Amino acid sequence: MCNIDVTVLNSCLNCKQSNPNAVFCCDACKDSYYEKKRQSLNPKIIEARISHEIHNMRDFLEKGKPRIEAILSDDKDKWHKIAEYYPDEVSFHPAEFVGLTINEVRQLHFQRDKEYLQS
Ligand SMILES: [Zn+2]
Repeated sequence: MCNIDVTVLNSCLNCKQSNPNAVFCCDACKDSYYEKKRQSLNPKIIEARISHEIHNMRDFLEKGKPRIEAILSDDKDKWHKIAEYYPDEVSFHPAEFVGLTINEVRQLHFQRDKEYLQS
């Protein structure tokens, strides 16, 4: 039997660590692998939301940074985390993201950050 094939079959698809019992060594690797795969396929956002609004410092301390979450064209059954941001620096409206790919949202995020830093 070819050694290389054995290695591939017995290692986690994500981190490549030896893992004879399953395709992935842990749930985090599984999520990460499918996330990368999804991005490579470039699904579009069909619905978007912001995880929570921040109105004051207390909201921020309790709930953390708001997340941009989306339903994707290739996986419509759950909300995917696309990015998170500092609400005092940038703001978004969910409708802005509809029709964009994950990478386009990240570019938009990056662009907003840049505008903020230059203002
Ligand atoms: Zn792994």
